Amino acid sequence: MYNSPVLFDKSVTIVNQFTSRNGRRKFVIIADQAGYEKAKVFTSEAAGTMPIEFLTIRGVEDSERIKRFLLSQKMGTQFYISAVWNNAVMVFKLGVEAGLSEDEIQTMIIGPKRRYVYCMKCFEVTEVEEKAEIAKCDHCKASLEIGPFYSIVREGYIGYPFIPAGKEEVVGS
Ligand SMILES: [Zn+2]
Repeated sequence: MYNSPVLFDKSVTIVNQFTSRNGRRKFVIIADQAGYEKAKVFTSEAAGTMPIEFLTIRGVEDSERIKRFLLSQKMGTQFYISAVWNNAVMVFKLGVEAGLSEDEIQTMIIGPKRRYVYCMKCFEVTEVEEKAEIAKCDHCKASLEIGPFYSIVREGYIGYPFIPAGKEEVVGS
């Protein structure tokens, strides 16, 4: 599980629109309330070309049901997740635990994506704005430059502490 993929804002599985995948035997679509309409549009487009199964979910209270559902699927299935961020992360995680690869999943996020920075000073994770380049660590208050590297182990972008301009004289006082 150490190198298992996790869902983050730049994940390859995140798409603006679902697309059909050739060479699959079945499409499975999993949608929460927010993702339902967009998922239905794709379902109507793909109808007749492929066996389709549609699962609607509420939230984390359905995780056991989703897990059983995922484990019951056969090889050659393409999975589509249409949901708000937290639900998409949950379903993605359960899918990876069930043995799916990123190639077998497309994810459509409804609403904002979440993004996290991993502090190299205190080794804690802080949520940051989607486009932020710098942030302040929630835990040790260090100013962090958000690097380009996403750590799937830490589940965040690596954040490098820096001393903000004009604050140098405060250090050590
Ligand atoms: Zn910190």
